[in-house]
Amino acid sequence: MKLRDKLEILADAAKYDSSCASSGAPKRSSAGKDGLGTTTGMGICHSYTPDGRCVALLKILFTNFCQYDCQYCVNRRSSNVPRARFQVDEVVKLTMDFYRRNYIEGLFLSSGIVRSANYTMEQLVEVARRLREVELFRGYIHLKTIPDADPQLIALAGKYADRLSVNIELPTQESVEKLAPEKNVHTIKMAMGTIRSKLDESQDKRAPRFSPGGQSTQMIVGADASDDRSILDTAVTLYSAYKLKRVYYSAFSPIPDSPSSVPLAPAPRLREHRLYQADFLVRGYGFQVPELLDADRHLALDIDPKLAWALTRRELFPVDLNRADEAMIARVPGIGLRNAQRIVGLRRHRRVSWADLSRLRCPMQKLKPFIVVSDYRPAAEPQSEQLRKALIEPPRQLDLWGAAA
Ligand code: SF4
Repeated sequence: MKLRDKLEILADAAKYDSSCASSGAPKRSSAGKDGLGTTTGMGICHSYTPDGRCVALLKILFTNFCQYDCQYCVNRRSSNVPRARFQVDEVVKLTMDFYRRNYIEGLFLSSGIVRSANYTMEQLVEVARRLREVELFRGYIHLKTIPDADPQLIALAGKYADRLSVNIELPTQESVEKLAPEKNVHTIKMAMGTIRSKLDESQDKRAPRFSPGGQSTQMIVGADASDDRSILDTAVTLYSAYKLKRVYYSAFSPIPDSPSSVPLAPAPRLREHRLYQADFLVRGYGFQVPELLDADRHLALDIDPKLAWALTRRELFPVDLNRADEAMIARVPGIGLRNAQRIVGLRRHRRVSWADLSRLRCPMQKLKPFIVVSDYRPAAEPQSEQLRKALIEPPRQLDLWGAAA
């Protein structure tokens, strides 16, 4: 099979993995040194498109042959898709050629499992080793970790990669048993634990380099019946137990000849979006998952999670922006962390007014039922239901590969 044909198959097969953002990678450059390439601290992501358009990351599978039969996966053993497999040399050559043509800034490499977990992981590690040690490639490398692989191989992967990820895929043990019976949540968490201990060790300046961009994972949304509460609870546990940099949420999209155990319809992209918003509120704003999902176990799709929370806590509003602490100001719908900080900073000089918020480009329509400033106070307090209707976002379905429809 020609290299180009392999690339078409194995880049397409990798598109379902969303855990490839590279934020957190260290800045590194070959300028004035041997070798080739740079990384930037954040923003490298995306993937190869078969038409050769400029992309930031060559995102491919080493092979889409797989001995497992995960029901939600297009590469499962029983799937009737064209198969291909790279050689180590081919991935190295592609990465270097693409880099030299300025198509990419790095490599995201994952794989189906062939022969054994160790054999597969050895191939991935060998690609990264050759890129670093033979080609002196200093660009970004993200390796997917095969959970059952020997911890020594995982340690070696961290020597060469900027980021490692282990996909948990489904939020509950029950779902993994049902949809991916050959996988084991315990083994997946053991692999995450191995990476976490190596990351902890690498904090010591004398310790060898290990995955400086940390580790991440992906959860598929809507392949099983898990609700948003279970998904977010699992994410929070993973963040704290394994110090993950990110949990990525990937709305399930039906695959050719899907088995009956997974849905025929795609999960709403908006659900994925709401999970990202809730995840950010938990990590950045100090929200607890039960605050965002106390009554219903699913996030609302029609309004964002912070607004939904505020509508069920009408007794906390309106918030006086000249008196409230920064954390409470950041909880006001329409005010983000930076603007909360700026508002508190402004108060050192004068009382915050409506015009100040407008200058900060706050969304005034969204904000006004929830705030008091020096020259504005909401006239009457509408009921939550009325407010919800007034502030609802027009429904839209986000598209997986293109712009929002
Ligand atoms: S192990 Fe990975 S590649 Fe193989 S079927 Fe499962 S999810 Fe797909």
